[in-house]
Amino acid sequence: MHYDLIIRNGVCVFPWGEAQTDIGVKDHHIASLSVAASDEADRVIDATGLHVLPGLIDAHVHLRDPGKPEVETLETGTRAAALGGIATVFDMPNTNPAVTSVDMLKWKRDHIAQTAHIDVGMYVGATRDNTPALKELETQLGVCAVKVFAGSSTGNLMIEDDAGIEAVLRSGHRRVAFHSEDEYRLQERKKLFHKGQPYANHAEWRDVECAFLGTRRIIALARKTGRPVHILHVSTAEELVYLSENRDVSTVEVLVNHLTQVGPECYERLGGMAVMNPPLRNERRHYEESWAAIRDGRVDVVSSDHAPHPLEDKNKPWMECSAGLTGVQTIVPVMLDHVNAGRLSLSRFVDLMAAGPARVYGVPTKGRLAVGFDADFTLVDMKKRRTITKEWIASPVGHTPFDGVEVTGWPVSTIVRGHVVMQDDTIISSQKGKIVSFQP
Ligand SMILES: [Zn+2]
Repeated sequence: MHYDLIIRNGVCVFPWGEAQTDIGVKDHHIASLSVAASDEADRVIDATGLHVLPGLIDAHVHLRDPGKPEVETLETGTRAAALGGIATVFDMPNTNPAVTSVDMLKWKRDHIAQTAHIDVGMYVGATRDNTPALKELETQLGVCAVKVFAGSSTGNLMIEDDAGIEAVLRSGHRRVAFHSEDEYRLQERKKLFHKGQPYANHAEWRDVECAFLGTRRIIALARKTGRPVHILHVSTAEELVYLSENRDVSTVEVLVNHLTQVGPECYERLGGMAVMNPPLRNERRHYEESWAAIRDGRVDVVSSDHAPHPLEDKNKPWMECSAGLTGVQTIVPVMLDHVNAGRLSLSRFVDLMAAGPARVYGVPTKGRLAVGFDADFTLVDMKKRRTITKEWIASPVGHTPFDGVEVTGWPVSTIVRGHVVMQDDTIISSQKGKIVSFQP
């Protein structure tokens, strides 16, 4: 038998457990999990000492394209992703202009075909104007979900009231993704704070009730309309308990930062580099509950919410500093370090960053190592010790909140539909990215 690619001698993480198996790839798909010693291929990768994972998916990134090439583009963002072991990203719509129409989706599909290093799915943003059209927009090629900013946004990309959200939920059938912080409470509490206060006040302004109230309102509307929802970046113990009682209508995303950093320590150490929305919490119980929820299956997806801003905007005094951080390149090393620290198993990690996103967003051919699936792989060295540095970051802004952090576990290769895109810190097969196909 002759294959396009064979990956030999790696420990493969299957949905049914780990096994040392040689994988054969033909025509961009996984063709065999029982490759013979005598079988040949155009290219053979020796994965001795490595784990072979399904190509990992970062289901929540903001690649800023079109809009701010000095901050990020689809080219630089997918380069960063590939260097970090990510084979697929789902990209948010709050660009300039925003992705809220058939025309912008088409522009973005063409742009992805020309510039992306890895596969890309696209969120389409909900506005009051496009609400009636969302049922058509959500079934366009490459759309992973409708994204609703129910709080914490600007311009027409925000729908904060119940009637507006209900109208969105009644336009279409696929799972809708929400930023759920309650806008009314955010605005009301903003008056209680002023410029120059310690950065840890970010979590006092945007308090637990901001997130919990927003999530309760959305779940009530999901139940009223019968439409499934995905609550992005769940950050509080209260929401995690509540959502576990509403699993029939909701799925749950938790961000790597909320699993790694806790206030007020992180604000004192990192200043504006700890500011994101929803905020890193000042009470450790939210961090503890997030890990409990990872362990007992209440979390479906772990993502980065990669959202780069210029360094000078990150370093402004609170509350003028921009919220959001780079993360698509660091999420895999940081999570592998958590695996090595015993906080989760490698197979649970794969569940959260491959099978989970594929299930929640409906990607039939990604997220598991199985014959017929896309030949997407992330090869990791679980023993490699390395320090994350800002010099390694490929995003033009060149910063990371994990600068100087030593981790154990590192991605050494990113393979997308049989193309080796990244090997040992080098992009070796450029611009092979395609639009992801979702279940209609
Ligand atoms: Zn985001």
